[in-house]
Amino acid sequence: MKKISRRSFLFNAGGATTAAVLVPSIMHHAEIKSQSYDGKKLNVALVGLGTYAGILATGLQSSAYCRLAGIVTGHPAKAAVWKEKYKIPDKNIYNYENFDTISKNKDIDLIYVVLPNAMHKEYTVRAAKAGKHVICEKPMATTAKDCEEMITACKNAGMQLAIGYRLHYEPYNLEIKRLGQQKVFGQVRLIESSLGYRTDDPAQWRLHKALSGGGPLMNVGIYCIQSSRYVLGEEPVSVTAQFGPNTNAELFKEVEASITWQLQFPSGAVCNSSSTYNCQVDRFFASAENGQFELSPGISYGPFVGKTSDGPLHFPDINQQAAQLDGIGKLILAKQSLPSHITGEEGIKDLRIMEAIYQSAATGNKISLI
Ligand code: NDP
Repeated sequence: MKKISRRSFLFNAGGATTAAVLVPSIMHHAEIKSQSYDGKKLNVALVGLGTYAGILATGLQSSAYCRLAGIVTGHPAKAAVWKEKYKIPDKNIYNYENFDTISKNKDIDLIYVVLPNAMHKEYTVRAAKAGKHVICEKPMATTAKDCEEMITACKNAGMQLAIGYRLHYEPYNLEIKRLGQQKVFGQVRLIESSLGYRTDDPAQWRLHKALSGGGPLMNVGIYCIQSSRYVLGEEPVSVTAQFGPNTNAELFKEVEASITWQLQFPSGAVCNSSSTYNCQVDRFFASAENGQFELSPGISYGPFVGKTSDGPLHFPDINQQAAQLDGIGKLILAKQSLPSHITGEEGIKDLRIMEAIYQSAATGNKISLI
């Protein structure tokens, strides 16, 4: 007989209506104290109209709390296409040179930085100085030092800073966080979490260290670091790491092609992870004292597949970007602080761990994180 998990039982017990009621409540971590929402939306400007900005624009179309109000781009031809497609007025269209004049534009509340990683710091700091809240894509920056400057700039300007950690609003990931932190199967002892894909475009900025800060670790490995931390609810105490294999030395001459690392946590739990540009991998697995749980795929955009040692997990396949924008927009509109696990304080933790991973891979030493 097929066993059902604790969570899928909760969902199935009440049928579709229960699921529809439960999902929004688990997607939004913080409850809004004031329930009187007047329907106003947060006006968002996207900076850097690349692939992910396009996906965010789709999310913004179905967001209840945010709307696409402005764009910042280096390409006038792109501006023309976006202006037409999303009905963006000329006064809300900027380029990188005149970006700072956005300070005078009362119709933009929040800047969403979707630029190559090495540009995150500059545009976050400029946005904060312009008096705008900021969402900055992951990784927050290419160094922990830059993260510190971003946090300080936003604090000094009285602006909120969120990092684009979309999985904090995704039901399957919220469930593995619950299973781990609430010790539903006992203490988690071992996590294996890996993310990678194949890339072979030498022109792609992700292969150039000056813009990316690093290879697959910076780009996608950060999700594995995140999931191990939020499932355990602990911070790693030390790390060991190894580069390789590099199957194409010509293509991967500035950044690593692959990297594997091991995080050691205070409870004794260990997380083994790889991130790579050599092959497709998207999986999270945790083994606890009395059972296991896993997602595969479970880190990309979905639909996700999950199971525990009790049986399959069943959650709705949501628009992750809309859920993330709603979670953030709702709080900013209500003038409430964002929860620390999606702010700059969270982003800098991941950068410190990634710097230690690179240091360990380069030296062969175990690096302490405490
Ligand atoms: P793209 O290369 O597709 O787009 C980046 C955009 O940045 C360009 O289209 C361009 O926009 C602008 N840009 C400005 N200067 C440069 C430059 N020197 N080189 C290249 N682009 C430049 O990247 P992505 O959209 O995939 O990634 C952008 C950010 O979003 C990254 O930090 C990435 O990590 C993050 N991301 C997050 C994801 C998530 O799931 N949370 C998924 C994918 C990416 P324009 O022409 O308008 O000036």
